[in-house]
Amino acid sequence: MILDLRTIFVTGALTCFIIGMMQFATFATGRYSRSPIWWGVSSLCIGIGLFGTAFRGEIPDPISIEFANTTLLAGCLLLLFGIRHFAGRELHWVGFGVTLLTIWILLSILPGEQGYPRRVMVFAAAMALCDAAIVREAVRLARLERLRSAWLVAMLFAPTVAIYSGRGLLAAFDQVGTELFPQNSGAAGWLAGTGVAFIILRGQALLLLAAERSNEALATLAQRDPLTGAMNRSGLEQWLGQQAGRQQRAEQRASILLVDIDHFKLLNDTLGHAAGDEILRLFADAVREQLRGSDVLARQGGDEFAVILPGIGINEAVRVAERVRSAFRSASAGLDPLTPAPTLSIGAAEVDLRGRSADALLTEADDALYRAKRLGRDQVHARLVEAAA
Ligand code: GH3
Ligand code: MG
Repeated sequence: MILDLRTIFVTGALTCFIIGMMQFATFATGRYSRSPIWWGVSSLCIGIGLFGTAFRGEIPDPISIEFANTTLLAGCLLLLFGIRHFAGRELHWVGFGVTLLTIWILLSILPGEQGYPRRVMVFAAAMALCDAAIVREAVRLARLERLRSAWLVAMLFAPTVAIYSGRGLLAAFDQVGTELFPQNSGAAGWLAGTGVAFIILRGQALLLLAAERSNEALATLAQRDPLTGAMNRSGLEQWLGQQAGRQQRAEQRASILLVDIDHFKLLNDTLGHAAGDEILRLFADAVREQLRGSDVLARQGGDEFAVILPGIGINEAVRVAERVRSAFRSASAGLDPLTPAPTLSIGAAEVDLRGRSADALLTEADDALYRAKRLGRDQVHARLVEAAA
């Protein structure tokens, strides 16, 4: 016998305690949500369950069987809850309590060596279902939030769904022997040893998940204007950099709209800064409704915005600009009737996105916007044709 099962269980338990501490420490950094606390409590429960199981036959059965197995399952369910909490999903506490109570009762009415295969069957089925639910949540998270580490979590839990299902089936056909720690553990020892490695990998994958989301949130903060949700200058520069990486694509041809709210200072002074902010938000929402998913709205500063329309020629861009102008007019119709409704001046230009800085692109539409302002505001002007050729 190369591997001793009891030692592996104790090692697994100690590993869980260490990982639990790491998860609590991760929460204590204050950079993440409360999910690492859930994962920490889950690791401690799994550790306690493994520790109790390691002493099977040495301590009273109700502790090493009912208590240890139920605590193990509680740990896995808390891990599931931790991922659901991370994803902002509802937590079903009644289901949690009922599941644990049912498992405890089933384990206690199947005592001794004769009951062993049935206990294995019940426990393996519960664990397979729990791990399958974790895989489902992780895949959902990976799809919705595009978190790559969520795929890793799903991949690390999928094998145990198969292993527990297999063990449950073997138990249903009385193929698992009559005791957890037989004289010759054989393949079970290697399986348990691999399980400990998985515990470590899973702990790391969960921390990666929290770190990846936190990084995404920071990147969003750095690239977005918090008031309107539009990209800021650095976001626009980064977007242009990404476009430059796609040199060969036809969408390198694009149109740009430079949009400025007319007499915004006057509106601000008359209605107050808060109302001015509301108009800026209303503007951004109205514009977004007129754009496709691939278009970009960026705030240049103050009341000036840029809209980039990849793959769109100047004639179509002018039509989009007119739509934006009238959408904003309709959206602001509900504002204070005593003040004149805010209007937009828009300059449009067809551009080539390749190798262009944000400033260079904006300059292309600057003259057209200037003409729109000079010729009375509340209108769209396109860059002169000879300059666009
Ligand atoms: P024009 O028709 O020529 O565009 O005139 P304007 O008054 O819109 O232009 P100007 O650039 O003088 O005014 C922009 C104003 O926008 C000045 C500033 O008080 C206001 N502003 C800039 N940023 C914000 C903001 O975040 N919130 C609010 N409420 N006002 C802002
Ligand atoms: Mg203005």
